[in-house]
Amino acid sequence: MLTETHPDAHCELDHASPLQLAVATVLSAQTTDVRVNEITPKLFARYPTAADYAAADRTEMEELIKPTGFFRAKTDSLIKLGQALVERHRGEVPGRLDDLVKLPGIGRKTANVVLGNAFGVPGLTVDTHFSRLVQRWRWTAETDPAKIEFAIAALIEKRDWTMLSHRVIFHGRRVCHARKPACGACTLRRDCPSYGLGPTDPALAATLLKGPRIAELAAAAGAPV
Ligand code: SF4
Repeated sequence: MLTETHPDAHCELDHASPLQLAVATVLSAQTTDVRVNEITPKLFARYPTAADYAAADRTEMEELIKPTGFFRAKTDSLIKLGQALVERHRGEVPGRLDDLVKLPGIGRKTANVVLGNAFGVPGLTVDTHFSRLVQRWRWTAETDPAKIEFAIAALIEKRDWTMLSHRVIFHGRRVCHARKPACGACTLRRDCPSYGLGPTDPALAATLLKGPRIAELAAAAGAPV
């Protein structure tokens, strides 16, 4: 049902290479993908290679990425990331989890985003939405992201990891919100052990739906738009 509910699920960070995706994912911390996509065309044009990030003028980069917040820390991460890529990987983003997580600013979440979407290697992206939803569905009681990742990896076939991540995150962004989940307008409500956490009245719940497909999501759940 999750697959039918979100046929448009995909990585929402614009990118054309593993390096661009790694950079965009670092920038996406504490902000929205939309905000990141607004500034990356200019950033990617200014810094086309890892060596360009390594040699970047800090003040200039800070100015470019300022709208994404935490711009000093993110600039620091991107410069160090560029330096590490040049020193250890000939300027290329590696396609292995073990190598990726050793890079500055790249945790397991970012590594799995890069693997799944730039290298075609299945990866589970355990972000705040993914964590919340798998707990609500009682797929796991773990709260630590790495433990959640291992628990879900044991339940789901590896080839489905990347798309499952996108669909769960889409459901978290559009339907199953942290504060007021749209339970009455949710296609998963019949099977969800947390049904009732948010409003169950279909008309009221439909007003909580978000994103570009509100009408389709409401109709799929049998709720009025
Ligand atoms: S029924 Fe409610 S808690 Fe369950 S997935 Fe849907 S919105 Fe989330």
